[in-house]
Amino acid sequence: MPGQPTLKINEIFRSFQGEGLNAGIPCVFLRLSGCSLRCPYCDTVYSWEEGKFMPIDSIISQIGSHQSKFPHSRVVLTGGEPLEQEVSVLVENLKKKNYYVAIETNGCLYRDIAVDWWTVSPKDVTGYRIHQKLFDKIDEVKLIVNRNLNIDVIKEIRKIGESFPIFLQPDWYDKDKYKHTFRLYEQCVAQGIPNIRPGIQLHKIYDVS
Ligand code: SF4
Repeated sequence: MPGQPTLKINEIFRSFQGEGLNAGIPCVFLRLSGCSLRCPYCDTVYSWEEGKFMPIDSIISQIGSHQSKFPHSRVVLTGGEPLEQEVSVLVENLKKKNYYVAIETNGCLYRDIAVDWWTVSPKDVTGYRIHQKLFDKIDEVKLIVNRNLNIDVIKEIRKIGESFPIFLQPDWYDKDKYKHTFRLYEQCVAQGIPNIRPGIQLHKIYDVS
């Protein structure tokens, strides 16, 4: 691919989706470097700055290299914040290779890219802002349960639509994370807010050793 763009990549690894509606599905994660939000509870701080620039064909070839030992047809673009980089050419080329492409974004930015699955995880540090152009793309929303997340925030997001689930994700650094998550979940159910799910993170407990 002559003159192809490069992207700053933090890591490429095989695993399975641990969260949300697609939990349990094997996939390769492509973690793009960089995120300007700097959330205090971020569990991928290492992705903010670390990474190396790679041309698109090297990225795709590294994703494909997992096929022999780990057959997969899904690629998840994650970060950091994947939309802070120009990922359009990458997505086009992954689609040409027949990958199912999912993206995990904080929702602040929008790019017109042909991904198959949009996971939007708006953050308290931006007032839970979701870019308006994402409204009709969202397949699922994930919200970190912390002291800033309350039922009014959830109701506001629910106004965008009811077709997608809203997952309440425990804050990994909160020692009472499950209690807080299920308490908020119960409030949502009691108030009749539809399509709310507790979001347990399978990859945090996955251990086959
Ligand atoms: S948006 Fe996500 S990647 Fe960026 S700082 Fe917040 S938690 Fe970390």
